[in-house]
Amino acid sequence: MSNQTAGFVCAHHHLYSSLARGMPAPKKAPTNFLEILQQVWWRLDEALDEQMIYWSAMLGATEALLSGTTCIIDHHESPKSIDGSLSTIARACKEVGVRVNTCYGVTDRWDNAGKLRSKVSPLSEMTQAAKQGLAECDRFLSQGGRGMVGVHAAFTCSDETLKAASDLALKHNVGVHIHVAEGFDDQQAGARLEHLANDDWLLVHAVHLDRKLAGTVVHNPRSNMNNSVGYAKPTKLNNQIMLGTDGIGADMLEEARLAYVRLREFDVSSSPSVVWSWLENGYKYFPEAKTDKVFFNYDHLESEWHVAFTPGIRATDVEINGEKVLVSGLPTRVDINEVRVKAAEQSKRLHERLAN
Ligand SMILES: [Zn+2]
Repeated sequence: MSNQTAGFVCAHHHLYSSLARGMPAPKKAPTNFLEILQQVWWRLDEALDEQMIYWSAMLGATEALLSGTTCIIDHHESPKSIDGSLSTIARACKEVGVRVNTCYGVTDRWDNAGKLRSKVSPLSEMTQAAKQGLAECDRFLSQGGRGMVGVHAAFTCSDETLKAASDLALKHNVGVHIHVAEGFDDQQAGARLEHLANDDWLLVHAVHLDRKLAGTVVHNPRSNMNNSVGYAKPTKLNNQIMLGTDGIGADMLEEARLAYVRLREFDVSSSPSVVWSWLENGYKYFPEAKTDKVFFNYDHLESEWHVAFTPGIRATDVEINGEKVLVSGLPTRVDINEVRVKAAEQSKRLHERLAN
């Protein structure tokens, strides 16, 4: 019997989305995935400023710690506040004590006047916004930041931008972190990326991927169900699989339970050890998480079958690099009440901005 595990890795997160909860609803309810992007997420990321980015990351990192997640692979976008944004996120995570690998998700969906293009595909040339996003990745990585080169998705980028992102990643010896074939709108992703992708790439979602692409696939079952994009059938892909939340918190046991029942719906002979291996694959990006210690309020953590059928297991204590960063459910480096109050203030500012 054991109430202890190593640290968990959330392989795809959007820390900027922590303040989205409770945001004003779109004027018209979105009816498909592209409308969800246009009316929810692209409205939200455009409204972010530095203070919001900081407190959103503080809240997201704190919530990760409370779930025993010690490492986050983050994908960031804030088109009106690009320069320095990755350092802001890294600083927030460092204060909480959680490790982060972050990137700026470049895109050509904003024209050179800063307006969202009504038609996002096809895009012929690299925009100023994409250049600025690449420059932020380059700056952050050049200064020793832990990260990757981010791309929103092939369907919102020109070929020129995709090539530039791939080249920048090679220059820094990192991979590209990109949403791939999440919805039907991005069905061309495989054809457009196959000559660029390599084993260091993080291919997020891969629900409608029509060919083999080099890289690790990140499966985000809750997000995929929420956006009604379909089941990614991760066991049918030849790629290594990791688990992410796509910005809906960082509770990896919760995500693993969901991944498991979704897998069982597809293949009733599956065992929870399949999903457990997806969690462990996260150590490819954060090998040091294996030495982190997470203690839970449940004492059968050695059994995937117990975990799969026990909702509500909570982390009580977390040690990262030998330092106790969570004790009896409370973070030691930050005041959790202050984080909640400050995040709520920024969330109010953000929601007021979105309402206008
Ligand atoms: Zn995502």
